[in-house]
Amino acid sequence: MEWQEYEKKLRELAYKDEAVAIIKKAFLFAAEAHKNERRESGEPYIGHPIAVSLNVAELKLDANTVTAALLHDVIENQGIKMEEIKKEFGKEVAFLVEGVTKVDKIKYRGIERAVESLRKMFLATAEDIRVVIIKLMDRLHNMETVSVLPDEKKKRIALETLELYAPLADRLGMWQVKAKLEDLAFPIVHPEECKWTIEQVREKKDEREKYLERFKALIERELKKENIETVRILYRAKHMYSIWKKLVRNEMNIERIMDLVAIKIILRTVEDCYKTLGIVHKIWKPAPGHIKDFIALPKPNGYQSLHTYVFGPDKKVVSLHIGTDDMDKEAQYGIAAHWFYEAGGKKNTTKRLDEKRFYWVRQLQEWQEEHKGKTHEETLSALKIDFFKNRIFALTPKGDVVDLPEGSTPIDFAYHVHSDIGDHMSGAKVDGRMAPFSHQLKSGSTVEILTQKNKKPTSDWLDHAKTSLAKGRIRSYLRKVGSEEAPKKGKIMFEAIMTVKDRVGLLRDISSVFSKFGINISETKSGALSSEHHRITIGFAPKKNVPHTKILTSLKQIKNVEDVAIKETKN
Ligand code: MN
Repeated sequence: MEWQEYEKKLRELAYKDEAVAIIKKAFLFAAEAHKNERRESGEPYIGHPIAVSLNVAELKLDANTVTAALLHDVIENQGIKMEEIKKEFGKEVAFLVEGVTKVDKIKYRGIERAVESLRKMFLATAEDIRVVIIKLMDRLHNMETVSVLPDEKKKRIALETLELYAPLADRLGMWQVKAKLEDLAFPIVHPEECKWTIEQVREKKDEREKYLERFKALIERELKKENIETVRILYRAKHMYSIWKKLVRNEMNIERIMDLVAIKIILRTVEDCYKTLGIVHKIWKPAPGHIKDFIALPKPNGYQSLHTYVFGPDKKVVSLHIGTDDMDKEAQYGIAAHWFYEAGGKKNTTKRLDEKRFYWVRQLQEWQEEHKGKTHEETLSALKIDFFKNRIFALTPKGDVVDLPEGSTPIDFAYHVHSDIGDHMSGAKVDGRMAPFSHQLKSGSTVEILTQKNKKPTSDWLDHAKTSLAKGRIRSYLRKVGSEEAPKKGKIMFEAIMTVKDRVGLLRDISSVFSKFGINISETKSGALSSEHHRITIGFAPKKNVPHTKILTSLKQIKNVEDVAIKETKN
């Protein structure tokens, strides 16, 4: 696609000059970066970011998000530096592109028990909801073009789509995107079930469509009589994957599924919605117990509409949804519907949008039940995903997700994987590099724990452990060692070795440092180094919560102590 054509689409979506100018720059930048690259289908690569960014633009998101969508693969595929993106397009675009690049590394590896953590990790790593939306549009386009890939890869991507991306779209209320993702993945992941479902439904397909068309015309005529203007009337068959899931819940009995066909009536005002419900019920009898008023009582995620089942012409059960245009857009695009490009959006919707943002936030919070109540106080920012800000999600080399509190270190990670791994940890690699035990892990990091058979926890590990699980294990190990082994042998001991100029009261000052920390001195050695200098060596047992640096600093402050070192002793 050439720029002229792309620009035309942006203009149709009401993007203004300023936005178009920024997006154009990104369009040309991406075209240049990907110019020698092809997709697996053989088509020029640039078609992909163009398609993704247009999907984002359809949602009328801000220019920075469209820009980031155009640039989303230039770092990963073309090795363009983040610095350059920042320089050319500013901090916010760079942040979004970096977010997409980071979440790209999160992969579903078929470990079902970890999938919920994986979704959380995805959101925590993305940091910004716009990153998630770009990624969903990226995945949607990849699924639409998945057929050219080899079977193995196709299957992996489709399964990941079902397990990771479709549920994320669902959580964000982007139900149309979710339905598309599921129906694209369904035949790849479950080919037999998909075929069977299609057969079940296909039997009456022509019939159903003719029927719906006829019913639609009848409704239109009746509403016109009452002077109610319809925005549009849509009808749809339930999407395949959701039919299959519903079949599974209903003993595979297609007759038990009432909403295989549905009609959606979109009207101008809420008042018209209620009037229409009354008119419809007067003519076509409602199925008892199925009328739901989600306008007066919206679903927790903010969804609004009137739902009913009526016995339509020929006494067939039809599901009817009645709502306004706003409600319909909302249902289709969920949270994304709120971020109308400022210039294109309506001013008077602001207040309602804030309420809606709150709904969405609440939905996510419900999903995050175990952390509810402590992370979100007043921070109801719609874009920032900070419900997880007190958690980090790190990966094992095999792709298992380990969910830890912020500030956790490789020691916590090791104990959360397995107590045996913790007890024998000798070192850690974080994203391929050796990291100290005190290293604070970040979301998205891959952590490899190195172990040695003869390696054992020492009390200073307690200084680096953040989680009560790790602390508890270390303590219980230290206790075990203390009780089971002979007190002198195997107990971890340290020596503080000092070079001093002797003076009256020096030894007393030194020992008072240890007693200040509640540490018992096990032995004191002293010897002359020269006519002026002495060496004093203090043996002591470690004490939890007293890091050696504290002891060192205090000792160094003593008059006439010139040098101090602390070493573990072999006994
Ligand atoms: Mn991509």
